[in-house]
Amino acid sequence: MAALGVRVREVWVYDGFKVNASAPVRGCMGVTEGFLCADPWRQSAILAHEAGHARLRHTVKAVAVAVVLEAGLVACRVAAAPWIVLGPGPFTAGLAGVMAAEVGVWVAVAALGRSHEYAADRWAVERGGITEGVYQVHLAALHHPPTVTLWNRLLATHPTPERRAARLTRWLRGGRHTHLQGVG
Ligand SMILES: [Zn+2]
Repeated sequence: MAALGVRVREVWVYDGFKVNASAPVRGCMGVTEGFLCADPWRQSAILAHEAGHARLRHTVKAVAVAVVLEAGLVACRVAAAPWIVLGPGPFTAGLAGVMAAEVGVWVAVAALGRSHEYAADRWAVERGGITEGVYQVHLAALHHPPTVTLWNRLLATHPTPERRAARLTRWLRGGRHTHLQGVG
């Protein structure tokens, strides 16, 4: 990780065969047992992705956005409080407003998470020293629960590997990074 400009001084190992790692935060990162047993090329792809999260400060940004949105929710609840004592009609309207705001926050936080995944994928290939081919094979090997409904697609913090692969291809073919070797 040091080669990618990320300092890691503590690594926690989690149970489980899933090949995964978490982005370093203040020098601490987590890896699964599955990660430790994975092929080195796969470990490199994952570390480059996690380094991307760290270098792009995704955790800090996600926490900051969540704090601001949560503060907004508190304001919504306070604003709805007078409605609740006005009778059944205003009560329902107030409750519906607060619930809509809460759902809006969940959807917004999940959308931010998905945008961070795409950005970390791009970073891994552009700056993380992983070739597009290796990264695409890594994405194809990822397991992801099926996102069958629009609802669970809206609330997913990670896009499906297929979407990530397609977005990466589109981005690399978009001509913005023609300096990359082998990318036209
Ligand atoms: Zn990620």
